[in-house]
Amino acid sequence: MHSPARERLWPAAGAILTIDLGAIRANWRWLRDRVAPAACGAVLKADAYGLGAALVGPALLAEGCRDFFVAHLEEGIALRQDLRGQPGAEEARIHVMHGLFDGTEREALAHGLIPVLNSLEQVAGWAGLSRAEGRRLPAWLQLDTGMARFGFSAGELDRLLEDGRDLAAVEPIRVMSHLACADEPGHPANAAQLGAFNAMRRRLPHLPTSLAASSGIFLDRAWHGDLVRPGVALHGVAPLPRGENPLRPVLRLDARVVQTRSVPAGTAVGYGHSFTTRTPSRLATIAVGYADGFLRSASNRGRAMWKGMPMPILGRVSMDSIVLDASALPENALRPGDTVELIGPDHDLEAVAEAAGTIPYEILTSLGQRYHRRYETGAPGSSGEVLQPTGPTVTA
Ligand SMILES: *Cc1c(COP(=O)(O)O)cnc(C)c1O
Repeated sequence: MHSPARERLWPAAGAILTIDLGAIRANWRWLRDRVAPAACGAVLKADAYGLGAALVGPALLAEGCRDFFVAHLEEGIALRQDLRGQPGAEEARIHVMHGLFDGTEREALAHGLIPVLNSLEQVAGWAGLSRAEGRRLPAWLQLDTGMARFGFSAGELDRLLEDGRDLAAVEPIRVMSHLACADEPGHPANAAQLGAFNAMRRRLPHLPTSLAASSGIFLDRAWHGDLVRPGVALHGVAPLPRGENPLRPVLRLDARVVQTRSVPAGTAVGYGHSFTTRTPSRLATIAVGYADGFLRSASNRGRAMWKGMPMPILGRVSMDSIVLDASALPENALRPGDTVELIGPDHDLEAVAEAAGTIPYEILTSLGQRYHRRYETGAPGSSGEVLQPTGPTVTA
């Protein structure tokens, strides 16, 4: 798989994380075309789900994306910086989905960020700054249509409208909500939330809407609203647990073998001796562990792949290492320094998540900082341009 030239790029790291920016762009285009004429944004919270907002943001901007979403103000400030100087950056709208804590409004304005207002307090804060600035500052309003997490409940909307002064002081430009069960198309909450959303927004001045995240995009058009907010689908994760995945995989994780050994039957492996070999076995120890974000819950359950052959994880995942069963591989197939696939074409994010008892989102956002990161920009098959992220990384 790896040419010797490529190997030399990362001689010092225990594993290499390869991120295909071209695939992220292709996934965004696919989603954009699916929802048209609705607009398609991109959710880049949590450092673009662990993949690096500093490179994913500019890649999507270049693809034509103009609506970006983060959770925290701090993420919005960082993303504004990451987009600066790129063609189209002036038109990029960055939305802070958590809204703003009291006293941080000026900071948001200084960086040209648009808050999502979730509560009476947040509207009051943004209204206060609007009055001080002598103009109505743009914001989104979030409605809680049945998730009890963010936004105005029907009762809070009553209160917002009763004394309409704060609302009149700001400029609401869009109304949004978020679906709790969109990954189950038949779930009655989907229709209930859509109904609640339509009923609540009729009480506000007419505004464009936003309702669907990745899974909602795969529901009927009625759930799309005027602008969709995909996050995980950009990274190729199947939007629905069953069925064809039309999206392209985006990342692979290759771990290096530190040591191999042959052991007799009855050999206990790893911390707590949670696994004992039943037959004479060949073991391979790789340089990835839970400190890299490879979840400990994959102990005795997950696996790596080598040329399409599974290598089960034996015993517990350690902080910096994992022991794999290499018995099915030809003898001497693996040598120290060789790589095995932990995530990739033979073992996708869904399978990795299932083995760890979690969801692909958690696998992505746990990806650690110790991997050597390699960003590809090319189409599949082409060698592609390789970008190096700024910040600490092992380079040639
Ligand atoms: C995280 C989030 C999204 C993106 O969700 P995905 O399922 O990753 O597409 C969209 N909207 C809101 C409000 C979110 O919190």
